[in-house]
Amino acid sequence: MPELPEVETIARKLRPHLLGKTITDAELRWPRTLALPSSRKFKAAIKGQEIKEVTRRAKFFILHLSDFSLLIHLRMSGDLLIKDSKIGPEKHDRLILRLLSAEGDRSNLVFNDTRKFGRVWLTADPEEVLGRLGPEPLSKRFTPAWLYAGLHNKHRQLKPLLLDQTFLAGLGNIYTDESLHLARLNPLATSDSITVKQAEALHEAIRTVLKEGIRRNGASFDWVYRGGEFQNYFRVYDRAGKPCPVCGTTIERILVGQRSTHFCPKCQTLP
Ligand SMILES: [Zn+2]
Repeated sequence: MPELPEVETIARKLRPHLLGKTITDAELRWPRTLALPSSRKFKAAIKGQEIKEVTRRAKFFILHLSDFSLLIHLRMSGDLLIKDSKIGPEKHDRLILRLLSAEGDRSNLVFNDTRKFGRVWLTADPEEVLGRLGPEPLSKRFTPAWLYAGLHNKHRQLKPLLLDQTFLAGLGNIYTDESLHLARLNPLATSDSITVKQAEALHEAIRTVLKEGIRRNGASFDWVYRGGEFQNYFRVYDRAGKPCPVCGTTIERILVGQRSTHFCPKCQTLP
C-alpha cells in the first residue's frame, strides 16, 4: 500500500504534466470509486475546472482545481498515470480525466485500481475529508515535544498508534517498522512508557526514514507502483529470518493488530 513517500513521489512526478491543464470531461468507469459527490454532480462540476496545484496530504493525492479539490486515496493497489488521449481504457481503469493544455494538447489522467479499494472525492471543502488527520510528519507542527505529549496522552502499543492516521498522518506498515527499528523501540511498547529521549529518537527516525523514502522515489513493493528503490534499503521490513543490519540478530515477524510487523529482538527490547 502506498504510503507518504510513494504518494509524494507520484505527486512530484505528475505535477509538471498537470499544472495549468483544464479538465474537459470525466469518465467514471467504476462508480464506487467516487466517494463524493454523486456521479451526476461530479461530472457536471469537474468539467472546465483548471488544475491550479498538485499536492499531497498524508496518503491523499490532491488536485487543487479552480473551484474544488479532487482528493484521491490509492489504498491497496491504486495508481495514477498520464496517458496519450488516443489510448483507450484498460481493464482496471476506474476514472479517466480528459485534459486540455493551453496549447491545445490533449492527454488523460488515469486512475487505475485493480483491487477497487481506492477512492476519489470532489469537494469545495477538503477539510470535510482531511479534517481528522493528525499532523504531517515532515511539517513544523511535528516536533519531539508534540510527539512526547501525544504518546503520553494515549495508552496504546506504538505500532498501531503510529499507523493511526488521526494521530500522525502518512505512515503505513513499511515506514512504521523502519522508524521503530531506527529508533530502537519495540513495536509492542506502550506509548506512555516512552521517555523524552526515546520520543526524540522516534521523531528523528520517522523523519529520516520518510525523507530517505522520498529520496529513493518510494518503495516498489507489493502494489502496482514501480520505479522506487527504497525496498532495496529496508532495515527490517519484509526481512524476517535475515540478519539485523545493526547487530546481526535474526529479524522476527509478528502480528500486531493484524498487521505484519518486523523487528530486531535485540535492538528493540521491551522496556
Ligand atoms: Zn539488531
